[in-house]
Amino acid sequence: MGITRLRAFIQDMTRLAGEQPSEARWLEEGGALLKSLVSNDDWLPDALAEPGPTYRQYLLHCDPLERFSVVSFVWGIGQRTPIHNHKVWGLVGMLRGAEVSVTMHPEPGRPMRSGQVDHLTPGEVVGVGSGEEDIHWVENAIPDRPSISIHVYGGNIGAIERHTFDPATSERKRFVSGYTNVEVPNLWDRSAEIREARPAH
Ligand code: FE
Repeated sequence: MGITRLRAFIQDMTRLAGEQPSEARWLEEGGALLKSLVSNDDWLPDALAEPGPTYRQYLLHCDPLERFSVVSFVWGIGQRTPIHNHKVWGLVGMLRGAEVSVTMHPEPGRPMRSGQVDHLTPGEVVGVGSGEEDIHWVENAIPDRPSISIHVYGGNIGAIERHTFDPATSERKRFVSGYTNVEVPNLWDRSAEIREARPAH
């Protein structure tokens, strides 16, 4: 299937975006689409599955109107995010390996309190609303190989001003994550399938 699955997912999400859905609908219907995408692990290009010295955030697609973005998160062995928020809705679908996400609650001037712990295995999807409960950290739950999850956010996540948090003091710092890659995958070279479908005459 190669990149076809990703292209179909982006087309479905773009159609959904055109209906100007509520956040609840994004999470429910977008979540079902993401679940279908991550139920097969045969489409992510190798270059966007490579771990690095810190966790990688490869942009797979950003909607031209920045209504949503799709990112491949690659955790190497022992890697984790800082404690951070998002400011927009998010969906996380596990593609390969496993990860743990821990919700954190700030306590002004005091250590943060940890909350819900989610373990994700391949094919699973969790949604996070854009409210105050969206602070967490995530780590690779597999001790000896990389893990990969596909994230969808309600905006151009790499360009959104958000925050990281100090677990000892709950203090927050300005954070703009950016992306690891400078080029996005080519979803649009459909020539092989067209050539196959229509023999020359
Ligand atoms: Fe996150």
